[in-house]
Amino acid sequence: MHSKALVLFSGGQDSTTCLAFALERYPHVETIGFDYRQRHRVELERRESIRAALHRDFPRWHGRLGEDHLVRIDALADVSTTALTRDIEIVMDEKGLPNTFVPGRNLLFLTFAGAVAYRRGLKVIVGGMCETDFSGYPDCRDDTIKAMQLALNLGMDARFVVETPLMWLDKAATWRLAEELGGSALVDLVVEETHTCYLGERGARHDWGYGCGTCPACKLRAEGWRKYSIDKRSLQSK
Ligand code: ZN
Repeated sequence: MHSKALVLFSGGQDSTTCLAFALERYPHVETIGFDYRQRHRVELERRESIRAALHRDFPRWHGRLGEDHLVRIDALADVSTTALTRDIEIVMDEKGLPNTFVPGRNLLFLTFAGAVAYRRGLKVIVGGMCETDFSGYPDCRDDTIKAMQLALNLGMDARFVVETPLMWLDKAATWRLAEELGGSALVDLVVEETHTCYLGERGARHDWGYGCGTCPACKLRAEGWRKYSIDKRSLQSK
């Protein structure tokens, strides 16, 4: 049984759910986040308050949440021209990929995560990559992650296991997983504290949380919430 995990933790809905997943399963969990000069830093700024809330409000995970590692990868912004790193509009490219795609981002994240996990003696690397996501980001696909696990294990002579608990879930199922893991307290935490909006807006509070409500990330989160809420009501009425 693996006992120590490192969670790729950005401060968004998905990675917060992954962090709860890891806390439920592993007695020692560390987090890693990346500062790549992303346009909106609000997601990164959420990380500390989410970690604090998990520590404060979930006694059974007490003592499990270990160190946080924030890694600066300035070079990623130097080599990319996407809507997440530059002040440009979100549009689709000729391949049907949104220009929020930062080529190589998850490959780099996993490589750095592997380096930290190696140094810290952590066997499991947990990431929120999801193939059912609207965007079709190729570096979120299951095959990519499996290839990265192999590459890390060969390149570092290690036996890492890369876990992606959200890989086959849609956003409604991700909300449901949060509820299964931490009840309504965790769902509330995800609503109140996490940030997903591509435009970095935290002004308006919707029933699914904060955000502009119109960018692709907000739409996906809102649609998932709507479906999750409907399913929940129909279960309760049975
Ligand atoms: Zn938004």
